[in-house]
Amino acid sequence: MVQGIDASPRRAVAIVGGGPAGMTLALALHQQGVAATVFDARPRAAARNDPRVLALSYGSRLILEELGVWNAIQATSIKTIHVSQQGGLGRTRLTADEQGVPALGYVAAAGSVATALDQRLDACQIAVRDNCHVIRAEVVADAVRLHFADAQNHGQPVEAALAAWAEGSIADASATVRDYGQHALICRAETAAPASTIAYERFTAQGPLALLPMDKAWAVVFTVAADALQPMLALDDQAFLARLQTHFGSRVEFTGVGPRASYPLALRVRRSAVAERQVWIGNAAQTLHPVAGQGFNLALRDIFELARCLGSGREDCGSSAALDSYAAARRLDRAGVIGFTDLLVRLFSNDCGPLQHARGLGLMAIDLLPPARTLLTKRMMFGARAWP
Ligand SMILES: Cc1cc2nc3c(=O)[nH]c(=O)nc-3n(C[C@H](O)[C@H](O)[C@H](O)COP(=O)(O)OP(=O)(O)OC[C@H]3O[C@@H](n4cnc5c(N)ncnc54)[C@H](O)[C@@H]3O)c2cc1C
Repeated sequence: MVQGIDASPRRAVAIVGGGPAGMTLALALHQQGVAATVFDARPRAAARNDPRVLALSYGSRLILEELGVWNAIQATSIKTIHVSQQGGLGRTRLTADEQGVPALGYVAAAGSVATALDQRLDACQIAVRDNCHVIRAEVVADAVRLHFADAQNHGQPVEAALAAWAEGSIADASATVRDYGQHALICRAETAAPASTIAYERFTAQGPLALLPMDKAWAVVFTVAADALQPMLALDDQAFLARLQTHFGSRVEFTGVGPRASYPLALRVRRSAVAERQVWIGNAAQTLHPVAGQGFNLALRDIFELARCLGSGREDCGSSAALDSYAAARRLDRAGVIGFTDLLVRLFSNDCGPLQHARGLGLMAIDLLPPARTLLTKRMMFGARAWP
């Protein structure tokens, strides 16, 4: 027997995945008057333990505020971003003052963001079914039917007008994939002087190194080549701190470091983020290198627009008209962020002499040209809406 997830299945969305993207979509749909149920393979609230740190743009803050989530997130403001390259000339500073915003962005523990979203789901009485592993979807008449791994325990298939895949990965063989041969090594670090509101992005031959202010300490996102990962993880804390200091230079003096975790880095992009009665969001639509901290920020803009397209008084929120208008509205921003992130990784992750000079000149040019700084900064904060 097939159960609908709501009295009016043509206005109901089944969200597969209760990570930050899936939870945000449920809230954005709720705001648009569209019913949603979240199905997650893991126990409820598992996302609260995500050890990563997220840099959220000022634009993302506005979205999370609109959804009533922002105030519950513990975040540290970024008022200046300092960009430089190891062993080369050129650096630039982007500031919130210059752009007339209170902050360029914020740093928050991914677990804190997940906790705030989860609490808001509860407050809005949005249904979440945990320990529900969705194994496939089939399109039937004017609905989509989801099947679960263990039908006996997880119940019968469920029908909705639309399945929104937010399962955090892309298994589709037709997806574009570029393995960067790099891993992100993340940890927390302390310095002699407490962190303030400056974030550092430093490009090294191994890959980018980001230092994000978090409370009085720093969140470190250190990109390392695949063959250097195990030796780096094996270093004792003192040796690791010395390595960090060598890569970062003398702008800050590292004094302590927390446990390290790592993530393999690749670009994965689905050929299309929509199909009949299905849509893919967050890392299930595109998985990006964290170099510019754009993954979840892009997902938030996608989600906000998707909810707007599915709401807007539509009788059938899984119709191809709704999905087509969403795909068209998001084409430019998605392509721009994916292309920009990929370009940054490839341009800046090497020690080729001529490229190093060109990068230095590029950074100097941005530093000397306020309009270039404004364009870059607004693009990072608001996506394609920042294009003239
Ligand atoms: C090191 C690193 C640093 C990053 N830094 C930033 C940053 O600074 N700023 C930024 O914007 N982004 C950043 N990102 C990207 C950001 O972390 C991701 O965009 C975001 O976490 C993706 O969330 P998601 O909900 O799409 O996926 P996930 O968090 O992976 O959630 C997927 C959920 O789906 C569930 N699931 C999976 N399969 C099924 C199934 N079959 N049935 C039911 N449920 C299922 C899982 O249990 C999980 O709960 C970073 C990424 C990395 C690796």
